[in-house]
Amino acid sequence: TKTAVTVLGLGAMGRALAEATLAAGHPTTVWNRSADKAADLVDRGAVRAATVAEAVGAAPVVIACVLDQPVLCEILDPAADALAGRALVNLTNGTPDEARRMAEWVAGHGADYLDGGIMAVPPMIGEPGALILYSGSREVFDRHRTVLDVLAEGDHLGADPGLAALYDLALLGGMYGMFAGARHAAALVATVGGDPVRFVEQRLVPWLNAVMPALSGSAEAGDPADSPVAMQRIAIANIIRASREQGLPADLLAHLLAPIAPPTDPQITDDVRRLADLTIG
Ligand code: NDP
Repeated sequence: TKTAVTVLGLGAMGRALAEATLAAGHPTTVWNRSADKAADLVDRGAVRAATVAEAVGAAPVVIACVLDQPVLCEILDPAADALAGRALVNLTNGTPDEARRMAEWVAGHGADYLDGGIMAVPPMIGEPGALILYSGSREVFDRHRTVLDVLAEGDHLGADPGLAALYDLALLGGMYGMFAGARHAAALVATVGGDPVRFVEQRLVPWLNAVMPALSGSAEAGDPADSPVAMQRIAIANIIRASREQGLPADLLAHLLAPIAPPTDPQITDDVRRLADLTIG
């Protein structure tokens, strides 16, 4: 018999998680604030719990995927007594500190804790290419591997419960930085009458694909021989100047001149200060 699973939260992501456990034959209990969202899952064999406590009590593995950590605290608080002896797998987005506090709170109620960051959109759940980063209890990760593998490939980063959230946010930060860069690029093109949508599709995406291999080395210290840092700094300064000339804010780009590691090179610090002045002034 397959391990029973509870899923708390049936938003876009929670629903995808519950569909995956159901499809894999795990007895699945669900709870959602808006109870009607469970209807079609119940048609497919899920059990709808009337309360969070009932849902938590129904399975040894409780997967939580709600909007944010304050919401999770709010819904779990009245169900705390039902947690004892269970494993909470928290796939709700949050900060490392929120994960650590949740781990402590859960341990205080006699339960095990595994935190997770989902690196996938809902249609990818249960499909190749979906990844979930985990941290916290390695024992839970190993013991419930068959359930977790139904959702996505799993990667356990370490015992500190905050690690998954930190890596998740780092990866999302890289992604949103790219989106912000794309938005800035499109806005720049629009200042001279260019079509921003066509620009992104036809020029920016191929360009980013072409430079993607350079990303791997970009966090290394040192000076790439074919694109010296001094040359790159001038190009970045020119982007900032051109943006200002076209009436666009360039706040996003000044941070590119800051080193990834804490500044030790006085020249770098001076450059950053000069460009920060340029951006603000
Ligand atoms: P949705 O906005 O689709 O769903 C939000 C969920 O939170 C719903 O179940 C909603 O219940 C519940 N909720 C919100 N406020 C409350 C509240 N005050 N009390 C009780 N329940 C509440 O979000 P997703 O499902 O997409 O996201 C869930 C988590 O998954 C997030 O942390 C998100 O960062 C993460 N995630 C999502 C991805 C995505 O692409 N969608 C990708 C990777 C991670 P109700 O139905 O009653 O409103």
